[in-house]
Amino acid sequence: MIPLDIIHTVSSNLGFDACGVCEAKAFRSERDQLLHWLHKGMHADMGYMERNLEKRIDPTLLVPGAKSVISVLLSYYPGNPTIATQPPKISRYALCTDYHTVIKQMLWQMLELLRKECGPVNGRAFVDSAPVLERAWAQNAGLGWIGKNGLLIHPKLGTYTFIGELIVDIEIEPSNSTVTNRCGTCTRCMDACPTGAIVKPGVVDARRCISYLTIEKKTPLAEQERQSLNGWCFGCDICQEVCPWNGKLETTKCQGLQPKAEILGLNAQSILNLSNEDFHNIFGETPISRAGYEHFMLNCKSITNR
Ligand code: SF4
Ligand code: SF4
Repeated sequence: MIPLDIIHTVSSNLGFDACGVCEAKAFRSERDQLLHWLHKGMHADMGYMERNLEKRIDPTLLVPGAKSVISVLLSYYPGNPTIATQPPKISRYALCTDYHTVIKQMLWQMLELLRKECGPVNGRAFVDSAPVLERAWAQNAGLGWIGKNGLLIHPKLGTYTFIGELIVDIEIEPSNSTVTNRCGTCTRCMDACPTGAIVKPGVVDARRCISYLTIEKKTPLAEQERQSLNGWCFGCDICQEVCPWNGKLETTKCQGLQPKAEILGLNAQSILNLSNEDFHNIFGETPISRAGYEHFMLNCKSITNR
């Protein structure tokens, strides 16, 4: 069995902020929660969440002979720039290069380093491919707990982290520490959510969530949805901004996740004046390109009533 220390060293040498390991197995209770969430239609029109369900929840179906799941966290916290705090607001995670690109490259490097340290290793890197299970794997690897806002909370890094995994076919000593849920009696995120999207602790109904409405929704927003955006044109950070575990965070040290100056320099007027070409030049490598020019501009116009 590979000692956990080796994984920690490789992870910190690559620049990840935290790392843990758990056994590669399907988590039945999370599977049931996910099925219930899907059954209730809380995934809205994100049909892709229903596809390959068994594969998403069982690491051994993703990597033949999988034995261990290495979970890593990378902080993207950029502080409180105006573009994330004054309408039209952009969620902090979207101010930098798309995290899929950055983290996948780092995970592939990790796999290469593991091969050097441990011999032949077969594995695959995942970022955001099954968010519900990714949080559960990270929790089981001792990286935090799932807060009432549905996000993984690391005691030092808070919630502004990206989660990635390497599923590998080698047996690695699992992290034996678990972090108990420290939300306690706090309900700040549930109270602050302007649309009531956190329907019970840890459960977010995407149909009401501003993040879904501004990024994923494929059909035009209804009038009531437009009115509910609370100044956000891409994503929403409210249930993270109010979380006390995000109170004293350091900004990200990762060079690849630094907020882009062109985005930080935007304001309401310059956003409304963006041409299609400007949009692609400024947001092309960021998660914002996913929404597309028209969707993004409609969100901005809804907020500024123009
Ligand atoms: S992202 Fe915004 S809308 Fe969605 S649950 Fe959090 S506070 Fe509510
Ligand atoms: S705001 Fe409070 S209840 Fe919500 S996730 Fe943070 S600690 Fe937990």
